[in-house]
Amino acid sequence: MACHMSLSSRLNKAVRQQYMSLPQGGKCQVTYIWVDGTGEGLRNKTKTLDTEPASIEDVPEWNFDGSSTYQAEGSNSDMYLIPVRMFRDPFTLDPNKLVLCEVLKYNRLPAETNHRTSCNKVMEKVKEHCIWFGMEQEYTLLGVDGHPFCWPPNGYPGPQGPYYCGVGADNAYGRDIVECHYKACLYAGVKICGTNAEVMPSQWEFQVGPCEGIEMGDHLWVARFLLHRVCEDFGVVATLDPKPIKGNWNGAGCHTNVSTKVMREEGGLQYIEEAIEKLSKKHAEHIAMYDAHGGKDNIRRLTGQYETSNINDFSAGVANRGASIRIPRQVGHDKRGYFEDRRPAANCDPYTVTGAIARTCLLHSEEEDEDKSK
Ligand code: ADP
Ligand code: MN
Ligand code: MN
Ligand code: MN
Repeated sequence: MACHMSLSSRLNKAVRQQYMSLPQGGKCQVTYIWVDGTGEGLRNKTKTLDTEPASIEDVPEWNFDGSSTYQAEGSNSDMYLIPVRMFRDPFTLDPNKLVLCEVLKYNRLPAETNHRTSCNKVMEKVKEHCIWFGMEQEYTLLGVDGHPFCWPPNGYPGPQGPYYCGVGADNAYGRDIVECHYKACLYAGVKICGTNAEVMPSQWEFQVGPCEGIEMGDHLWVARFLLHRVCEDFGVVATLDPKPIKGNWNGAGCHTNVSTKVMREEGGLQYIEEAIEKLSKKHAEHIAMYDAHGGKDNIRRLTGQYETSNINDFSAGVANRGASIRIPRQVGHDKRGYFEDRRPAANCDPYTVTGAIARTCLLHSEEEDEDKSK
């Protein structure tokens, strides 16, 4: 079996336990997490605080070397880490923390890949609408050699069919990771709401939500950090490539479910339809924001096949998994609820996606133009 696991994952974990259970003298380990200059990669580093922070306000600003994260020139490389949301650390346990940070440049303006600042501005403006999101993060497990986890070294597993929500050693590849990640999210306080095996073997999904406004991006980024960290323990790699394997294999998306207060109330379908109408007029702009590389990655995925729409067309429909926007069957029946934007790729920035949806659906066009010029 060519499951190529990393050497560190084979270190003796029983020895580790001796140290992990030592008391830590009343100190608190705080791990700062941020998005690097690729817009996809996550970085982290840890510092000791004398007391456990009660809330995010108690966590001090910090800095890092941006020239080592594709974020700055070496001659002017200090970047600021601004703590924005705190979670429990499921690896070193209480009282230790994981803290998601925004990155600011030397002049305290947002770094190029810090899309949270502008997203937050939109979310503040639309606060009265109580916009909720739920994102379905699909990902693919690879060995450290880059080959899909547990696929035969030469060739392919049997065709798609038995793997989606499958069970059994011949169908489910890497469930340990999925289960450990789920528990880690719950312990941390990440709003994970479910998980399932996907259509392609070694491909999985977890869902986060419902989250209000800016919370969506925060929780999804930390859920991704936990995924990469859990995979590290097992010696495998999770990729968010939107189409990791060419040919007759499903790609990986990040379906984004959306509702506002009025959509969730009786007769809300009317407001869902209005939102879809607005989205239909901005299809190309949204596509350009729905993956980590300005729409270029999603071209490989949004072919119109394998439960996707074609990248060039906008479509919407009840229970239609080949449409850009799907209204779930139950929502069509109840005439209230939420809609699903199926276009975002697995490697999208959730701040960019949720910010774009909130802007298009809820801001008047003058406000929108004003917002963009900032
Ligand atoms: P699918 O049938 O598309 O695979 P999933 O069960 O995987 O659906 O995901 C559904 C997502 O919808 C979850 O992330 C959940 O949080 C989200 N969701 C449920 N209700 C709402 C709502 N009212 N507004 C926004 N998101 C919602
Ligand atoms: Mn799903
Ligand atoms: Mn899925
Ligand atoms: Mn979906």
